[in-house]
Amino acid sequence: MATKKTRTKEEITKDLEEVEDFSLADVEGIGNIRLKKLNLAGIQRAEDLIVRGPMELHQLTGLDFDACADMIEKARESLQKKDIIGKTSLSGRELLQHRAKKIQYLTTGASNFDEILGGGVETGVMTEIYGEFGSGKTQVAMTCAVNCHLPVEKGGLSVDGEPVRVVYIDTENSFRPDRMLQIIYERGMIETKEQTPAEIKAEKPKEPLNEEEEEKALKILDKLKVYKPDNAGQQVMVGEELGKELRDETAEPIRLIIVDSMTSEFRMDFTGRGELGERQQLLKKHIKHVSRIAEIYNVAVLITNQVMISPSVMFGDPVKPIGGTTLGHTSTHRIYLRKGGKDKIVAKLVDSPNNAQNEAVLTLTRAGVQDGE
Ligand code: ATP
Ligand code: MG
Repeated sequence: MATKKTRTKEEITKDLEEVEDFSLADVEGIGNIRLKKLNLAGIQRAEDLIVRGPMELHQLTGLDFDACADMIEKARESLQKKDIIGKTSLSGRELLQHRAKKIQYLTTGASNFDEILGGGVETGVMTEIYGEFGSGKTQVAMTCAVNCHLPVEKGGLSVDGEPVRVVYIDTENSFRPDRMLQIIYERGMIETKEQTPAEIKAEKPKEPLNEEEEEKALKILDKLKVYKPDNAGQQVMVGEELGKELRDETAEPIRLIIVDSMTSEFRMDFTGRGELGERQQLLKKHIKHVSRIAEIYNVAVLITNQVMISPSVMFGDPVKPIGGTTLGHTSTHRIYLRKGGKDKIVAKLVDSPNNAQNEAVLTLTRAGVQDGE
């Protein structure tokens, strides 16, 4: 007969520590059976519950819809208690304090653009830039991906010079690492070779001072994780995996997520009229996911979007962002980019809860986006 093995004190302590770390168990109303079902569906933590939303959770686990809604509510409460996310209802003063404590701004590279955004790309919410092809959306995205590595004092999101990570979801194959390097060099983020007046006049591209400096620039690229989903389903999956990536404590914190573009795969994948509803649903799920991630992990989320020309518009601009009302309502700040001459871009804030509808003229140079003169 096999003897029952007595567990060592260390083993018990270790188990207890794991339970304590396991924040799903902290959520009221989650017993062993629910815990098992949630785990089987890949949900490990309270954050995962919130990110999913009740309908998705119901479909994933087979648990009753109301029970799912209830668990999410409880998970929200427990994260609110720990001040990880903002409360659903709180006084103006509390909200002001919460924002002052948590919200940071990432510079776009152009101070007038930052100004119309209220300080830059805000953490904790989703910022959308839309515009016609060639209007500079990808250029803004890549400039922000570089700037994120700057220290907070210089408009970046790196605290005390500690490295940070950026996730770049490139659905259109338009991300260019060499362009990123160019932006790094031209913005003076590493030391570059001194140029003669003639070279400056001829606008010779800047080059790293030496191999060591080049390596510093490459280190920035190391901290950039690029995903290249090639269909809408894959894009949604990447979105679902983000939570895990964000919690990876062995790596540097992720402070910026870029989705360039949020909508194009959904446009290409579903063409038949009958599939419009399905497309909208999948896109809606993805948008909700990404925006909840912004809130829970207090990261800056910058997404790009295409436009359509609406022929029925008699007055005003017939250019409208695609993605339907879900995207419109979920993006906290919406910016419309349009070409404004040779190397100029006009950025217009069209929708923002706290900033007036203002415009800024930006210049697009080798250094990315800069103030217009
Ligand atoms: P799409 O909808 O097709 O994705 P987009 O809005 O993302 O378009 P971008 O690719 O960001 O547009 O912008 C293209 C513009 O950026 C072009 O006008 C191009 O001349 C300019 N551009 C690209 N690289 C550089 C560079 N190294 N220096 C200056 N301007 C550049
Ligand atoms: Mg682009």
